[in-house]
Amino acid sequence: AFEGLTERLQKAMRNLRGKGKVSEADLRETMREIRLALLEADVNFTVVRNFVKRVQERSRGAEVLEGLNPAQQIVKIVNEELTKTMGEEAVPLNKSEKIPTVIMMAGLQGAGKTTTVGKLALKLKKEENARPLLIAADVYRPAAIDQLETVGKQIDVPVFQQGTDVNPVEIVRNGMAKAKEDHNDYVLIDTAGRLQIDEALMDELKNIKELTHPDEILLVVDAMTGQNAVNTAEGFNDALDITGVVLTKLDGDTRGGAALSIREVTQKPIKFVGQGEKMEALDVFHPDRMASRILGMGDILSLIEKTQNDYDEKQAKELAEKMQNNTFGFEDFLDQLEQIQKMGPLDEIMKMIPGMANNPALKNVNMDPKDLEHIKAIIYSMTYEERNNPDLLNPSRRRRISRGCGRPIQEVNRMIKQFNQMKDMMNKMSNGNMSGMEQMMGN
Ligand code: GDP
Ligand code: MG
Repeated sequence: AFEGLTERLQKAMRNLRGKGKVSEADLRETMREIRLALLEADVNFTVVRNFVKRVQERSRGAEVLEGLNPAQQIVKIVNEELTKTMGEEAVPLNKSEKIPTVIMMAGLQGAGKTTTVGKLALKLKKEENARPLLIAADVYRPAAIDQLETVGKQIDVPVFQQGTDVNPVEIVRNGMAKAKEDHNDYVLIDTAGRLQIDEALMDELKNIKELTHPDEILLVVDAMTGQNAVNTAEGFNDALDITGVVLTKLDGDTRGGAALSIREVTQKPIKFVGQGEKMEALDVFHPDRMASRILGMGDILSLIEKTQNDYDEKQAKELAEKMQNNTFGFEDFLDQLEQIQKMGPLDEIMKMIPGMANNPALKNVNMDPKDLEHIKAIIYSMTYEERNNPDLLNPSRRRRISRGCGRPIQEVNRMIKQFNQMKDMMNKMSNGNMSGMEQMMGN
């Protein structure tokens, strides 16, 4: 996501590089470029205007500050103002003092409500040992109920449904009673959407709201829809007074407009972002990390957190040492592959690393789970020496390995190439390059 915006913002600020002093004309030109970059990324017009005004005002005084050069200061200001535009801090889920906490989803058809219900339930289950109940209140499409049932089975969470013949408000009422009976600590209500906001939909949602007094009304919006996502958010917020937003499909080719506009336009926080179709692909929204990501500094903090969740810290330390001593071998590679499989697709992970977002090499990295068995077979056909010293793998050794494991030589070569890419990536991580700003300014 955001490739275009990232590139343009970086370009806007590169012009300032190496300047000891920023003239009024330089600054004006940079601001013009930033404004165009944001508008092109489909950021709301008012948001752009306010943003540029703040950055400009703060940048005027930039040359008098010590420590950073003017260009670095402006990058820092842009980063901070982007963060502010998206809300400063992560906002946690509202919780009820007595169970159940009620979370109601709202949003247009296809925004990702049903998927998000599943993702959020799984997150709560994992992080709090929660026992959620999902309520199927989208009765207009029979497939919607099946879909929620499928999601429920997948994450092993119960679903309350009464088919499509009962009124949704009635279903929710009965579902709430069921949750009370079963002492569920969370109730997640999947509601219907329409292609466009209409009164009937809003009335139904209002009735469900009135009945359940939800702790959260999460509006699910598709980040791919840019400016429309913002208008949708305004419409739903006016009718329902939502408590937060979930921005989905950030894994796709979005331009950034929704992420950057929704908070300021609705004054409601983005609480989560959906970054894939898998049930695991829901993350807490951190404005500062998103700002760094938009600026192309890489979402290294998110990556570290993700790694820590799924990966033993001691192991990570050992790995860092191996990287430093250059003793990272195929045995470690195998371990890593298994860890990364647990985290999600490799290409998604790689995109979070500074400098990787726009890396064309990324297109070649594609780790299909079923390939893992083949990779294992290849590695098992290596000698112990080769596994620990991959530089030994000359063409004749590669041919021998290929024969030994019964995989084509191209596949062996590809695997070794992937290994080297991974080693590269690990190197970048273990060098802990947190100073993305310096990297970006090239000094
Ligand atoms: P609903 O109509 O609002 O309930 O939307 P669904 O939950 O049925 O989602 C619509 C489509 O979007 C489905 O194909 C989902 O798999 C997909 N989807 C939902 N969230 C994400 C996301 O974060 N990333 C991607 N790539 N797809 C998503
Ligand atoms: Mg749905």
